[in-house]
Formats: sequence, C-alpha cells, structure tokens
Amino acid sequence: DADIPESHPRYESLLTRHRIEAGVEKGITSRQGLIAQGRGEAFDYLLGERTLPSADAAERAAAAHLLLADHPVLSVNGNVAALVPGEVVDLAEATAADIEVNLFNRTDERMERIADHLRDHGASEVKGLTADGRIPGLDHERAKVDADGIGDADVVVVPLEDGDRAEALGELGKVEVVIDLNPMSRSARAADVPIVDNVIRAVPAIAEHARDLADADRETLESAVAEFDADEALAAAERAIREGGDDDET
Ligand code: ATP
Ligand code: MG
Repeated sequence: DADIPESHPRYESLLTRHRIEAGVEKGITSRQGLIAQGRGEAFDYLLGERTLPSADAAERAAAAHLLLADHPVLSVNGNVAALVPGEVVDLAEATAADIEVNLFNRTDERMERIADHLRDHGASEVKGLTADGRIPGLDHERAKVDADGIGDADVVVVPLEDGDRAEALGELGKVEVVIDLNPMSRSARAADVPIVDNVIRAVPAIAEHARDLADADRETLESAVAEFDADEALAAAERAIREGGDDDET
C-alpha cells in the first residue's frame, strides 16, 4: 500500500482512501464509489473511527447467523473489493459462504475485473456473472443476481448496499446483514443485523467471531442471534454520534 507511516494518527483513514483510489484506477471501483466512501468517512469520523460495543455485538450476531445458515452469501461491490478483498475471502472460508459480485452500476467489464481481483486474493469461486436470477421489485439491471447464489441464499451479507436493494432483499425473507457507517441510512434500517462500522474493521471482526463460535452448539448460536436487538444497536450508534463517548451509556 501507499507510503503512509503507520504512526500517522489517521493511518487507517488514509490507507482506506488510498485503496479506493487504487480501486478506481484499476477499474474495480466506480466514481460513484468515491462519493460513497466520502460519506462513509464522515460517519466514521463522527463515530470516533472505532468499533462501538454495539457494533461488536452485531458482528457476533452476524457470525452466528452465517454459521447457522444453510446457504450464506457475501455480496461484494466495487468498494468492498478495493478495501477488503482478502478479508472477504477469509470470512467466506470461516463461514463456508459463497462470494457473489453484485454492483449498483453493473457493467460486464467491472464484474469481470472484480471477480479476477477476488481470485487474485484467493477466492476459488466467484458468483454473480451468470445473473440468471432476479430480485422482485427492482428495475432490470439492479435486480440481477445468480439464481444459485444470492437467489438461493438464506443469509446474505451486503456491505454498503444501496437502500432500495437492501429493502427489496429484506422483503424476500432472507436474513440480511448490512455493514454501513450511517445508522440512519435506509440500508441499515432495512437490515436484520445492521453493523454500523467500517467494512475495514467489520469484515475481519465477523470472521474472528465466526472462528470463536466455530465449535459452539446450535443453542449457543441461536441465543447469540436472539440476544441481538437491531433497533437498540442503531439507537446506540446514533447516541455515539450525537453525544460522543461510549455508546453503552444511556
Ligand atoms: P440510502 O438511505 O438509500 O441507503 P445512502 O446515502 O446510504 O442512501 P448509499 O449508496 O447506500 O446511499 O451510500 C453508501 C453508504 O455506504 C453510506 O451510508 C456510507 O456511510 C456507507 N459507507 C461508505 N464507505 C463505507 C465503509 N468503508 N464502511 C462502511 N460503510 C461505508
Ligand atoms: Mg445506504
């Protein structure tokens, strides 16, 4: 990565920016993705660029959902591919999940580039290019998914998903995990498990929880799922933004 000294107080933020820029240069990330990144950074700054306790709880619940799933799928867009390609592959391994490329501004070229990029980072199979399934309620291009991928999934992780599509996916009755730094976004509000954290921190954190829970029995996983309260997690993130400090004080 860029020549950013690790001692820099905003190292992670600068590294993130550099990766997104490199993603645009490689044709992986769209220019719209740059704008989304800017919105994300603003929220991350307000949240103190850290994982809140409520986000950690969401990451644990997400891991439990993935381990309980019959067919978990991790959705990858241009920002996610630029920021955390190896971490997504690692999470897929830790949870036996499929990886599917899923773009807001879908072009075959960008789909292929992202799939290649993920394979370069160790992915064995990347779905999304068949596009023989549709999410009802969305216009043609944005509705496309793989029938044997997101189409067939019972649990989907959609980092940085657009609000419309997050709502349409939620209506399909799939368990939806959204990673989004804006607790007020429609995407976060549509999720069964909203993770208000930077994908850079969230994806490895879910994988770590999944490894912790790997030997847990079904009952333990089900209670990790049941204990999580989505509305409370969103409210905690909003409090952290408004009041600063720790989000578990009320
Ligand atoms: P909507 O209310 O419809 O969801 P939106 O403004 O959220 O509208 P999106 O295209 O979904 O529109 O915006 C991208 C979202 O991704 C923003 O909410 C932003 O905070 C979030 N985001 C951007 N970068 C990151 C990141 N690195 N980690 C986590 N979330 C991010
Ligand atoms: Mg959104």
